[in-house]
Amino acid sequence: MNLILLGAPGAGKGTLAAYLIDKMGVPSVSTGNILREAVKNETKLGREAKQYMDAGKLVPDEVVIGMLEERIAQSDCQNGFILDGFPRTIPQAEALDRIAKIDCALSLEVPDEVIEGRMTGRRVCLKCGATYHVQNMPPKKEGVCDVCGDELVIRKDDAIDVVRDRLKTFHAQTEPLKGYYGDQGKLKSIDGTQGIHQTVQFAVQALEL
Ligand SMILES: [Zn+2]
Repeated sequence: MNLILLGAPGAGKGTLAAYLIDKMGVPSVSTGNILREAVKNETKLGREAKQYMDAGKLVPDEVVIGMLEERIAQSDCQNGFILDGFPRTIPQAEALDRIAKIDCALSLEVPDEVIEGRMTGRRVCLKCGATYHVQNMPPKKEGVCDVCGDELVIRKDDAIDVVRDRLKTFHAQTEPLKGYYGDQGKLKSIDGTQGIHQTVQFAVQALEL
């Protein structure tokens, strides 16, 4: 099965993908990782992408799609793949349809308030990398790392205005994909607010795994 995971930043797509690769026996394919690999390995497309990155520009869709095409042609994608973080726009979805047959788009539904709570509650220790959450996984002593005793901080990506900005972009550019795949009869939506184990259950039911 060739599966796309849709959902807002912070909805839990990456975590769900990690569970589904086991259940489905297919790899998860992230365009971010492909891009980094191609640049590192200095492939033709990787060198092209690097020129844009060095100039501080976004890597164009056709370069990313080219890398994706190479990646899903590899043998481990024979029985399918899970795409996490791509497509993010309708033009990307249209380009993807030209190189692969998508079977299902699974949308992870989480309201903005819940995502804001999840992300802005995160705290990290810059010294040892331990992560906490003020509600779900608080440190023993507020603001102090349990592991190494260093101060806990809010990552820049988790600041409320950054989170709201990313949600706004998601609603404007990526959420229309639900209509795109809905029109193709490929959209399935599940509740992503009930914790990871319940979310996996919902996904297994929706995908009939
Ligand atoms: Zn620490």
